[in-house]
Amino acid sequence: MDYLPIFLDLHGRRCLVVGGGEVAARKTDLLLQAGADVHVVSPALGEAMQALVDAGRITHRAGGFQESDLDGAQLAIAASDDNAVNAAAAGLADARSIPVNVVDDPALCRFIMPAIVDRSPVIAAVSTGGASPVLARLIRGRLEALIPAAFGRLASLAAEFRGEVKARIAEPVGRRQFWERILTGPVAEMVFAGRGDDARAALKTALESDGDAGETTGEVYLVGAGPGDPDMLTFRALRLMQQADVVVHDRLVSRRVLDLTRRDAPRIYAGKKRADHSLPQENINALLVRLAREGKRVLRLKGGDPFMFGRGGEEIETLAAEGIPFQVVPGITAAAGCAAYAGIPLTHRDHAQSCVFVAGHLKDGAVALDWESLIQPRQTIVIYMGLVGLPVICRELMEHGMAPDTPAALVEHGTTENQRVLTATIATLSDEVTGAEVRAPTLIIIGGVVKLREQLGWFDGGAETAPGAGERIWMDHPD
Ligand code: SAH
Repeated sequence: MDYLPIFLDLHGRRCLVVGGGEVAARKTDLLLQAGADVHVVSPALGEAMQALVDAGRITHRAGGFQESDLDGAQLAIAASDDNAVNAAAAGLADARSIPVNVVDDPALCRFIMPAIVDRSPVIAAVSTGGASPVLARLIRGRLEALIPAAFGRLASLAAEFRGEVKARIAEPVGRRQFWERILTGPVAEMVFAGRGDDARAALKTALESDGDAGETTGEVYLVGAGPGDPDMLTFRALRLMQQADVVVHDRLVSRRVLDLTRRDAPRIYAGKKRADHSLPQENINALLVRLAREGKRVLRLKGGDPFMFGRGGEEIETLAAEGIPFQVVPGITAAAGCAAYAGIPLTHRDHAQSCVFVAGHLKDGAVALDWESLIQPRQTIVIYMGLVGLPVICRELMEHGMAPDTPAALVEHGTTENQRVLTATIATLSDEVTGAEVRAPTLIIIGGVVKLREQLGWFDGGAETAPGAGERIWMDHPD
């Protein structure tokens, strides 16, 4: 190791910053976050530093650096724009055995400052030993994604109970195992979901029964998997996917998304096709309850967003009635994903002030929609599950007075490499689609905003392969 990584307690300790510019201000800010008593020496101050002086948060001496500025300092940072001044300050600090950092000059540094992920009290620090600060920042970016924002809260909860746990479970191995269970189990999930009081209560119960309780109650995660591209999962979705014991998924969830669930977690397919309700809704609800009762962490993974035409509400109604803990993780719904990837803003100052999402499935040859309310000026209509009913939908709209030349688009396999977008008018879209061998899932967007695609379209599925060739990421589908 070229450097010893340590975390320094600077509360109330005098630290010297040489320089008053932007960089010096950033370092000062960090020192202040760590509770240091910061003294700045510089002939002039930039805006940020001046604001800190005005707020009374730092002490400033206007003038050039002098050796006496180091008096009483426990740490020094040289961040002026004058290399000679920085070098002089570094030399004098070192002579007094005061650890010194010179910004952008590792050779003169007695210590270097890492890139950090701050989830206080958890702090992850990354250093490349000065070799490449940019690389350190890239690594930090990955850690940001990996460490849930709520880890700080989890650590605080652990701190709160540390003494009590130690008193109760004297034996170190048992204590470690207890903490491992707490920090990876339902208690941690409650903290992440913002249910601090529940977490505290569950931790107490677990402790009172010497760490056994809390393990037998399972939990259900109702998670939106987004429209297909795994990049569109949320951090929380990904984390829960990687810890769930069993996966119950939809037809709409893409293979690439499923591949991100835990390898050893069994996958149960609960998809529904239009004609073939392979697992009726009641059975899915009952299945979730049964799995959770067995003590499993159940991932209920649904395409798009679970509360958007996903019957997610019904599934958690049953869970709530049965007293099974659950949490809901939103996903990017097809409308948002398809609109972005087709270059069709759903609202726009000049074209649409409102947007409605409707389900367009056929029932007994008809589509039951309130046509009058759909046909409003400056309103975008987004239709889910509308492929089979498309001819009926377009006819009804025109019969109820929508102009036949109203722009309309159909987005097939939106956001994926198989994405195709057909644009036409409500008078012609249906014929276009018939000739194009379109396959579900598809989303229909109707309104003036569709025209914007000519300027704003930016993504073309990228696949030269015809649909059906190469990697097909969809199973078949309810449309
Ligand atoms: N909960 C889902 C919707 C489920 S209903 C969501 O929020 O997106 C299923 C319908 O969603 C499909 O019939 C189709 O209209 C639409 N859909 C889902 N994913 C899609 C995609 N990648 N491209 C186009 N439409 C999609």
